[in-house]
Amino acid sequence: MSSVAALEVFDRRESEVRGYIRAFPTVFDRATGSTLVDAEGREYLDFFAGAGVLNYGHNNPAFTRALIAYLERDGIIHGLDMATSAKQAFIEAFERIVLQPRGLDHKLQFTGPTGANAVEAALKVARQATGRSTVVAFTNAFHGLSLGSLAATGNSHYRTAAGVGLDDVARLPYDGYLGADVDTLDLLEKMLDDPGSGLDLPAAVIVEAVQGEGGINVARASWLQRLRELTAARGILLILDEIQAGVGRTGAFFAFEESGIVPDIVTVSKSISGSGLPMSLVLLRPEVDVWKPGAHTGTFRGNNLAFVSARVALETYWADSAFTDAIAAKSALLREELERIAADHPEQGFVVRGRGLMYGLACDGDRTLAGRISKAAFGRGLVIETSGAFDEVLKFLPALTIEEDELRRGLAIVRESLDAVLAG
Ligand code: PLP
Repeated sequence: MSSVAALEVFDRRESEVRGYIRAFPTVFDRATGSTLVDAEGREYLDFFAGAGVLNYGHNNPAFTRALIAYLERDGIIHGLDMATSAKQAFIEAFERIVLQPRGLDHKLQFTGPTGANAVEAALKVARQATGRSTVVAFTNAFHGLSLGSLAATGNSHYRTAAGVGLDDVARLPYDGYLGADVDTLDLLEKMLDDPGSGLDLPAAVIVEAVQGEGGINVARASWLQRLRELTAARGILLILDEIQAGVGRTGAFFAFEESGIVPDIVTVSKSISGSGLPMSLVLLRPEVDVWKPGAHTGTFRGNNLAFVSARVALETYWADSAFTDAIAAKSALLREELERIAADHPEQGFVVRGRGLMYGLACDGDRTLAGRISKAAFGRGLVIETSGAFDEVLKFLPALTIEEDELRRGLAIVRESLDAVLAG
């Protein structure tokens, strides 16, 4: 069956809301590491990693083995938020491998399994803990599409779908929004201290250390440090949304680590389970953990299978520095090649942005270019997506476990695709 014919049932029966299927129109069937295989046996190199869910690659054998063993011994699959041995082992590993070495005393809240679920919980608890309603979010932020998280998301494409008011969020410019020479926090500071500014004292500020969906915008460490100081001095809670930039994506476990700040609340999802199974958590400083028992409940909180692979991921990759060293080497390779591509096309004015294995090639000169490169790359066997308010940024999000030769091969496809698109 041709791939067009195989997609017929999706066109006929699946809602118009479907998205990625349109950019990558084939029926995927199997995957290992950084290779996807479609139903016709065609291979694709993956520079998308499930939008940041598959930081350790597809079907990582260490996780698959542990999941099969757990299933075969009839381990608990669903347990609401009851204690299970899988959850216990995950919490202990997270405490030992992630929290303690970083001096973090945060409590863990397990929310529903999507990133938006974690953001909703974070916003709700921040409002409860402070008794205030306003939350500051930034330009080009992406925090999810449920109503509370959508109010904090910037992109009008998503906001107009809400159908109701998206309230209680004030928007301020992210780092770099007004150019590298402007410190956008001057505006926040002035507004916070000016009773005439119209900005009520917020409950919280929510921020991504590196904006993923918003176009791979990187906040400077000094900007995050100042944000931490401004918020701490006024009793405003600081929420770091690490859903996409966390779990090693920018080179350290948390993207905020480089700045040395300690957030009050951290949202974690996407790659935390390692295997791609849905799982989310919210980290809360003990004094922010003001929840009454069961006050934010739900049926699917704590995915026990996900706990199993999440624990194995922490033990396999985060017990020493070998993994972060390997990410740093691949990050240098990625940045160098992207800068070469930019230098080879000065007429396009490409800008290279990012950290770790989260990079963007911003094609602001022609906002259709990134989408056309992505399409041409797919035809050549590479899955790569775009981001930014105009989809003008080609977004590089390979698995952190990608082999260097795979990274080089994918970059060669990008170069070829760019040349083909420019040749018209
Ligand atoms: N926050 C950030 C930073 C994200 O990148 C995303 C998704 O891309 C979300 C929240 C929402 O996560 P989900 O799509 O799982 O609801």
